[in-house]
Order: sequence, then structure tokens, then C-alpha cells
Amino acid sequence: MSDTIFGKIIKREIPADILYEDDDVLAFTDVSPQAPEHFLVIPKQAIATVNDIQPEQAELVGKMVLAAQKIAKDKGIADDGYRLVMNCNEGAGQTVFHIHLHVLGGRPMTWPPG
Ligand code: AMP
Repeated sequence: MSDTIFGKIIKREIPADILYEDDDVLAFTDVSPQAPEHFLVIPKQAIATVNDIQPEQAELVGKMVLAAQKIAKDKGIADDGYRLVMNCNEGAGQTVFHIHLHVLGGRPMTWPPG
């Protein structure tokens, strides 16, 4: 699979405001924030869409959520609340085909999202 922009961020070929990294996941600020706090958590392993996640990758996806939780707590947005979003395919607005968890917070979130 050819590299996406997120693959290039993992390899430090393009810059990003990196918030968290471990052996399995990386988190960085979204370049086009939709909330006062908007960051992305990605697996280092390239998975194109949520449709492509395999059962053996369930722990990896769980680690993405735990990284989101940790950063949200560190940023002080956890108690007020934050939103986790994973867009799957073009119809849902996915533009980068390396799965990523959007974490949005720092303002009230409306529902439904539209
Ligand atoms: P999605 O539309 O769900 O695929 O989300 C892709 C997200 O990646 C968008 O919110 C973009 O603003 C964000 N994005 C694209 N390129 C970069 C980049 N170089 N650094 C940080 N965020 C990016």
C-alpha cells in the first residue's frame, strides 16, 4: 500500500505537532481544527479504513482509545467531555486512508453531528 500523509508523519518525513507516541500509536494535533482541541490518534500500522480492521487488531484499536483518553485528561478536557470520531470511507468524510481517531473537545458538542 502506498504511503499516506499519516505514514509520512510516522516516519517523520513531514512535520506534525506530536502529542503522544508509543510502540503502537501516535497522536498529533489536527492541522485544520474543528474545535479548540482537535487531535488525531493513529496506529503506526497502516490500516486503510475501519472496514479493514481485523479481529486480531482489536487490542490496537483499544490502545488508540486509551491514548485519546490519556491526552484528553492531560489537556484538561476529559471532565467536561470530548467526542471521538472515526470516519469510514468517502461517504462519511474520510480523506486520509490510514485509520484515525478524531478527538474533539474544549467546546460544547451538538448532537446529531450532521
Ligand atoms: P478524515 O477527513 O476523517 O479522513 O480526517 C483527516 C484529518 O486529517 C482532517 O481533519 C485533516 O485536517 C487532518 N490532516 C490532514 N493532513 C494533516 C497533517 N499533515 N497534519 C495534521 N492533520 C492533518
